[in-house]
Amino acid sequence: MTQPHPFLADDLLETIRGRAATYDAENRFPHEDLADLQAAGYLRALVPTSFGGAGLTLEQLTREQSRLAGAAPATALAVNMHQVWVGVARALHAAGEDTTDFVLEEASAGEVFGFGISEPGNDLVLFGSQSEARPDGQGGFSFHGTKIFTSLSPAWTRLGTFGTDASGDDGPHSVFGFVTRDGGGVEVKDDWDTLGMRASQSCTTVLAGAHAPADRVVRRIPPGPTTDPFVLGIFANFEILLASVYTGIAQRALQLATEAVHRRRSRKGGGAPLAHDPSVRWRVADAAIALDGITPQIAALARDLDLGVDRGELWMPQLSAVKSRATETAVQVVEQAVRLAGGASYFASSELSRLYRDVLAGLFHPSSDESLHAAWANVVLGPIP
Ligand SMILES: Cc1cc2nc3c(=O)[nH]c(=O)nc-3n(C[C@H](O)[C@H](O)[C@H](O)COP(=O)(O)OP(=O)(O)OC[C@H]3O[C@@H](n4cnc5c(N)ncnc54)[C@H](O)[C@@H]3O)c2cc1C
Repeated sequence: MTQPHPFLADDLLETIRGRAATYDAENRFPHEDLADLQAAGYLRALVPTSFGGAGLTLEQLTREQSRLAGAAPATALAVNMHQVWVGVARALHAAGEDTTDFVLEEASAGEVFGFGISEPGNDLVLFGSQSEARPDGQGGFSFHGTKIFTSLSPAWTRLGTFGTDASGDDGPHSVFGFVTRDGGGVEVKDDWDTLGMRASQSCTTVLAGAHAPADRVVRRIPPGPTTDPFVLGIFANFEILLASVYTGIAQRALQLATEAVHRRRSRKGGGAPLAHDPSVRWRVADAAIALDGITPQIAALARDLDLGVDRGELWMPQLSAVKSRATETAVQVVEQAVRLAGGASYFASSELSRLYRDVLAGLFHPSSDESLHAAWANVVLGPIP
């Protein structure tokens, strides 16, 4: 089915852009943005039409997430977490697995999914949790532990999370499940006061017995690296959509810089716009060239995921690489943009100054530079015997 493209209307994005500075300054969650995005059907954009969604492909959604991030980075990053879960459920459904179909049904019905994975000082990320998953004896589990940086914290109604079940005689297992905010056993701390991405309100979440019944438990698998389609699905959707968000920030920064150098004039250059200065032109081009390679890379990975192409052992390294290249490039491009726009961009009221703060968050998301390089060293050199 052909989808309207773009999905998010330009005037909606302008409205969202118009609110971003206030949310940032007041360190507040963008409830109005979320309501508008819900009303536009954006939280079910990736949900297949058979489940009442808009049926966008992941490749289409990457473009929308970049556009949204260009308007309001923190709103896009927060919504990204919901889109990741829908993307996972969509991929599993397409592969013939119905365990996560409830995500598609509930996203279609208006539920908002948070991503409760990260834990303090846990660099195993998806490959091992320091939280506990305690069996209820009926196939369900209750979760106990601390999750950090949970975006959408005031707004999620469902939280996908994981913990370790060490109660059995089959050794420790990672248990992935979905809890509801209504179900209790969750404390959201009011502790988000950061340099950037302030509106994402990625607060600490304390799980104190939050319960996932048997039909909301998606996996019980040994910890450690795995090619399990659910875990690979999280990794793939997360890295690709995250790359899209930070690329959108960089695209917007370059647009603002371009406008600035057309506006700024040089006395040295006889009053000509800075856009005529060869060194300024070189810097603009340099940023544009850096960005030019990112979008096709994101699109190619997303398309392969949409089509179920198997990249085998290269999947994980290539997914880490697109996240890394996109976020690192975005930081460089935003810095170039700040230089091009000059001192005006240093004022707190400048959009570029906010983008400069927001874009830095890209460095902290998994995969870390360390695990990216370890993975690629293994690809090229083979593992150390
Ligand atoms: C803007 C933003 C939004 C994010 N949204 C999400 C999300 O929605 N869901 C999600 O799962 N992840 C999210 N993340 C988390 C992210 O992906 C990383 O897991 C996170 O940045 C941790 O990175 P780190 O390993 O460098 O930090 P860490 O070293 O793990 O530090 C992170 C925090 O934990 C504390 N800490 C570190 N070690 C310990 C310890 N031993 N005991 C107690 N505290 C400790 C640190 O002081 C710090 O406050 C988000 C990150 C950012 C920047």
